[in-house]
Amino acid sequence: MTRVVGVIGDPVGHSLSPRLHNAAFDALGLDWVSVAFPVPDGMAGGAVAGMRALGIAGLSVTMPHKAAVAGLVDRLTPVADVLAAVNCLFWDGDSLVGDNTDGIGFVASLRRGAGFDPDGRRCLVIGAGGAARAVVRALADAGATDVVVVNRTAGRAATAAALAGDRGRVGSPGDARSADLVVQATPAGMGGSSSADERPLVDPGQLGAGQVAADLVYHPRMTRWLLDAAGAGATPVGGLGMLVHQAAAQLERWTGQPAPVEAMWAAVSH
Ligand code: NAP
Repeated sequence: MTRVVGVIGDPVGHSLSPRLHNAAFDALGLDWVSVAFPVPDGMAGGAVAGMRALGIAGLSVTMPHKAAVAGLVDRLTPVADVLAAVNCLFWDGDSLVGDNTDGIGFVASLRRGAGFDPDGRRCLVIGAGGAARAVVRALADAGATDVVVVNRTAGRAATAAALAGDRGRVGSPGDARSADLVVQATPAGMGGSSSADERPLVDPGQLGAGQVAADLVYHPRMTRWLLDAAGAGATPVGGLGMLVHQAAAQLERWTGQPAPVEAMWAAVSH
C-alpha cells in the first residue's frame, strides 16, 4: 500500500528532495516514500509516461526537465503556465497537473527568515534565469510595488521583468540602494566560489540596515555575498528556506495535508 513519489532530474543524486519529503512523511505518519529517479536530458516524456503507468503519486521536477515537462501534462496551474516551467507534478482526480512552487516557496522563506512581506515593498532581483523569473512573478503576485531586474544579459532581464507586469522594469546595480529587498538569483557563490567573474552584480557593501538580502544559493548555507550583506547591516536570508518551503508546498499538493515544515527544516539543518 506504500505510495511512491520522487524527484526527476540529471544529475539528481545530490537532491535534498527525498530527504525533505521522507522526513515529512515520517512526521505525518504516512506510508509514503520519496526516491530520486535519474532521468537523462531528453527523457522527460518517458518519465511522465512511466509516472502515469505506475501510479506514482507525485513528482518533483528539477533541471533539465522543468520546461519539457510543462508540455507533457493534462493542465498547468496559472503560475506554471506563465513561467512555462514545472517543478511539481500532482494528480487532480485523473488529471495530471503541472505546478511551480519555487516562487511561493521563496516568499514563504522571506516571511520565516526575516518577517518580510513583499506587499507594498520595493524589490530588486539579480539574475533572469528560471529561478529569478519564478521569484519576480511571486514578488509581484505578493503585492510588491516595484520589481527591478538586474542581469548580465539585458534581453533576458527584460523578459524576466515583464513577468511583474507594469511593476517590473530593468534596472542597474545602483537601484539596490533604494530597495527594501535585494535577491541574489544567479549561481554566483555556489560551492563557495568567489572569483571576480562570479561576483553578483550588486556590491553587498552598498546594502545596509532596514534592507533584506536574500540569496537563492544554499550550498554553502551562507554565501560570501550574503555574509558581506549581513556585515553591512542588511538582514540575510539564505537559499535553504526556499528549498524547504517549495518542497513543503509540493507535499501539500500530493497529500492534501498541511506540511510539517519544522520537521522538514530539521532534516536539512546540520
Ligand atoms: P539559470 O537559469 O542558469 O540562470 C542563471 C542566471 O544567472 C542568468 O540570469 C545568468 O545571466 C546569471 N549568471 C550566471 N553566471 C553569471 C555570472 N558569472 N555573472 C553574472 N550573471 C551570471 O539558473 P537558475 O535555475 O535560475 O538558478 C540560479 C541559482 O538559483 C542556482 O544557484 C540554483 O541552485 C539556485 N536555486 C535555488 C533554489 C532554492 O530552492 N534555493 C531553487 C532554484 C534555483 P545571463 O542571463 O546573462 O546568462
